[in-house]
Amino acid sequence: MTDRSFLDWPFFDESHRTLARDLEAWCQSELTDSPHTNIDAECIDLARRLGAAGWLRYCVPAAYGGVHESLDVRSLALIRETLARHSGLADFVFAMQGLGSGAISLFGSDQQKRDWLPGVALGERIAAFALTEPSSGSDVASMETRAEEDGDGFIVNGVKTYISNGGIANFYVLFARTGEAPGARGVSAFIVEAGADGQDASERIEVIAPHPLATLRFTDMRLPASALLGERGRGFAQAMGTLDVFRTTVGAAALGFARRALSEATQRALARRSMGATLADNAIVQSMLAEMVLDVDASALLVYRAAWVRDLQGRRNSREAALAKLHATDSAQQVIDKAVQIFGGLGVTVGCPVEALYREIRALRIYEGASEVQKVVIARHHLAEFRP
Ligand SMILES: Cc1cc2nc3c(=O)[nH]c(=O)nc-3n(C[C@H](O)[C@H](O)[C@H](O)COP(=O)(O)OP(=O)(O)OC[C@H]3O[C@@H](n4cnc5c(N)ncnc54)[C@H](O)[C@@H]3O)c2cc1C
Repeated sequence: MTDRSFLDWPFFDESHRTLARDLEAWCQSELTDSPHTNIDAECIDLARRLGAAGWLRYCVPAAYGGVHESLDVRSLALIRETLARHSGLADFVFAMQGLGSGAISLFGSDQQKRDWLPGVALGERIAAFALTEPSSGSDVASMETRAEEDGDGFIVNGVKTYISNGGIANFYVLFARTGEAPGARGVSAFIVEAGADGQDASERIEVIAPHPLATLRFTDMRLPASALLGERGRGFAQAMGTLDVFRTTVGAAALGFARRALSEATQRALARRSMGATLADNAIVQSMLAEMVLDVDASALLVYRAAWVRDLQGRRNSREAALAKLHATDSAQQVIDKAVQIFGGLGVTVGCPVEALYREIRALRIYEGASEVQKVVIARHHLAEFRP
């Protein structure tokens, strides 16, 4: 059983409550906890099913097959929270359709949107976001991949790594240095069709919660001028603008994992007998459950506040998104760890739901800005209020 009372909060309108209810019913009938055997095939299948059911329409604007005129962060967050509670892989597939196409929705030309977004909404075109490099992760502005002007197009050389959907994506939004200026101001974004000459996505990376992940190598890859996404030299700002939307939803996914852990741990505590009573009768276990409830509620408030600010106040929500991501991901790690503790030996047994959650949560504290980077953002905003 999962607490649904948050849906009555004033951050939501009736369409969000309907969305949450309908998606919950879909998840219950369509998603299972069964172990993964072929991650690539499962992700492609999940994209098709999420697309056919209409859920991926929330990843693109209405004019290109979507639901809302522009991306509605509350809907994205509600969907990620719900999917994550049922299946980490389904959440991953949904998230990457949004993140991978987000820069096109936000900054693409009408033609680029028409070319790429309807396929994303149907789950027929798999998207990826290629920003990180072997020597530039958190320090995005130091990226080295170059796109050099050549006749009526660009020639790309460089390496991207830890690229989700690498190897199965149909296209990548690629960030590369175009030389207008050093650092953040010399980066542009491109839409790159997968499989082009000069592209190698064969080096796969295995991680503790399996999903498609690869290193991408570009050697003299030719791109037409039409691949340029938005204004040249604005790639860094476009990447950050895209992450501003989706960072809140990473918090929402963490919230979904935490809610699932709380639900599993509570049922286990009520059922498991120890020393003449259930674990749930034990005051120390009750204290753990109370701390978990507190963390879950605090995360939900921060996540949906950040989404609401972005949707309804029409301003950048970097501060609120950083607070939401930091708290929701870090505290979900603690909630899940407590759930494992309440499960005892069963909690670390492969195949137990809290064991999978324990692996699922870890990367969320690293990608789309590590927890420490969120603290830098929060402190910068805070200090700016005090400085003359
Ligand atoms: C599962 C997974 C999926 C990913 N998917 C994608 C993807 O689809 N596309 C993509 O482009 N990238 C992706 N990434 C990459 C991810 O965004 C980077 O791993 C992340 O930005 C951190 O970069 P890094 O790994 O190079 O760590 P580093 O930048 O080397 O940082 C290591 C650690 O140093 C600390 N640190 C770094 N900078 C600071 C700072 N300024 N202040 C204080 N502490 C700091 C933090 O603790 C950080 O965790 C993915 C990563 C993972 C693990």
